[in-house]
Amino acid sequence: MARQKLGQHFLIKGSVLERIAAAACPERRDLVIEIGPGRGALTRRLLERAARVVAIEVDPVLADGLRRSFAGEPRLEIVEGDVLETDLARFGRAVIAGNLPYYIASPILEKTVRLGPPRAVFLVQKEVALRLVARPGERDYGFLTVRTALFATARLLFDVKPGAFRPPPKVDSAAVLLEPRERALSVEDREGLLRFMGRCFRQKRKTIRNNLAPIHGRDLVDSWPEAGLRAEQIPLEQFAEMYRRLAG
Ligand code: SAM
Repeated sequence: MARQKLGQHFLIKGSVLERIAAAACPERRDLVIEIGPGRGALTRRLLERAARVVAIEVDPVLADGLRRSFAGEPRLEIVEGDVLETDLARFGRAVIAGNLPYYIASPILEKTVRLGPPRAVFLVQKEVALRLVARPGERDYGFLTVRTALFATARLLFDVKPGAFRPPPKVDSAAVLLEPRERALSVEDREGLLRFMGRCFRQKRKTIRNNLAPIHGRDLVDSWPEAGLRAEQIPLEQFAEMYRRLAG
């Protein structure tokens, strides 16, 4: 892929780098996996707070630059490759952090929350951050919100303006913190629930009745109190309840 397509916007503002590193490692950590280290600005700060850092960079030119900049730093492992193709579990339990390439923020978020890290801190497009923390009934609440909430609790940390990057992106950014869900969901089959919610959100503007009747039959769906609602109004726990009803 051409380099300009790899979401390469490098953070140059020290205070932002420091805040991301501090949010990822409020206390000293054994291991941090960094996604998209670029030229190593965040990597350097993470190394001050963690015993080891594994940094995954897809661009061979940048990976080569990192190998040279960090030569003689045995605590840093540079993995040259696509994070979406990398088995992150093999590094062991780790905090995950990164100023993400925005074009693949959603699949990276999905991969990360499924792994269940003790904490993850990402800089993402502000619009994506708002979707992660949205509440039912809010404009930004959608499939990305519930898919994430199934595995993790998301918190908005702070906003970052385009001027903090070189080159500046066209959009505002925000840092988010993801932590494992505290309360267990009432459904164990998370993959089944995820597929079910995918069907509920298939056409966001349509009611549950119109999205589900073609699949589960109108009679069944009409008997549900949620039939006339839209998925964007329904909290995760209620989706779990609907899924249990369907399975039971
Ligand atoms: N961490 C650096 C910083 O803050 O200055 C760079 C962040 S930049 C927004 C995103 C980085 O992710 C780039 O270095 C880019 O090459 C890298 N990247 C893009 N796609 C990737 C992928 N699929 N796997 C791993 N890294 C990727």
